[in-house]
Amino acid sequence: MAKAVNICEVGPRDGLQMAQGRMATDTKLRWIAQLAAAGLKEIEVGSFVSPRMIPQMADTGDVVRGALAIEGLTVCALACNLKGAIAAHEAGAHVLAIPISVSDTHSHANVNKGTEAQVEMVRSIVDWVRAQPRPMRIDAATATAFGCSMEGGVPLDRVARVAAALAAIGVDRIALADTVGYAHPALVRDTVRAVQDAIGDRLHKLHLHDTMGLGLANALAGLNEGIRDFDACLAGLGGCPFAPGASGNVVTEDLVFMLESMGFPTGIDLQQLVGVRTLLAQSLPGETLRGGVAMAGIPQTFQPQAA
Ligand code: ZN
Repeated sequence: MAKAVNICEVGPRDGLQMAQGRMATDTKLRWIAQLAAAGLKEIEVGSFVSPRMIPQMADTGDVVRGALAIEGLTVCALACNLKGAIAAHEAGAHVLAIPISVSDTHSHANVNKGTEAQVEMVRSIVDWVRAQPRPMRIDAATATAFGCSMEGGVPLDRVARVAAALAAIGVDRIALADTVGYAHPALVRDTVRAVQDAIGDRLHKLHLHDTMGLGLANALAGLNEGIRDFDACLAGLGGCPFAPGASGNVVTEDLVFMLESMGFPTGIDLQQLVGVRTLLAQSLPGETLRGGVAMAGIPQTFQPQAA
């Protein structure tokens, strides 16, 4: 089985949407450039949502256009509806990420629509994108796939059914997202298996939050089931504005440390990656920067893999 792991950095999107301070566009672009220089090949740079809802994302069009200048970088943007998807396409994003909540309650809170209606909305996006001359990859992420702060547990067959519905309407890739961070390794194993049974390798990625301190354990559970794509966030920034209590994403630096130490090449220079935190510390003074590797320093025993 392939060993290389691809990490998509979601800091400029998931990490910033809960941040108190507003980050300037040129600072976002410097951050993205530094991440790319450290070896990140895929970055979710922002979301096309109403700036009234998330003011941090008002400049996403400019951020996408700026990030496109970085050679070799796959630029992802998130959108929750057709209007946002059109804006992402017009800005030139390579990948569109669409969150679909498998919990009806969370879905209503997030986008004012139930899950079934959301799947139909994704169909309208797929149809529109496929009719354009410029292709754009469409990744759907099943939010709250491992539990919801409003509804509680989500049955496995429901997650598999939603994933199958998304696969059937033609999205390119499907990710499972632990939006609020309630997953544990056994649940990750069981959910990944149930969804792989339903859609095979169209399930490609896990989006994990570290709410309960289980982010890396959950990533390992996914890795053991063959998952080779993970979202992560420098310094573990992030949360979900509609999931009360949700804390940050799995820490990119710590994930890279774990993967490389275990023999899974990421193509990321850990030392250089940790250095990018300086920009965050300076530009987001009110935010807590998390992460064991940055706190303790990279140990002498660390042996990175050849990319
Ligand atoms: Zn998230």
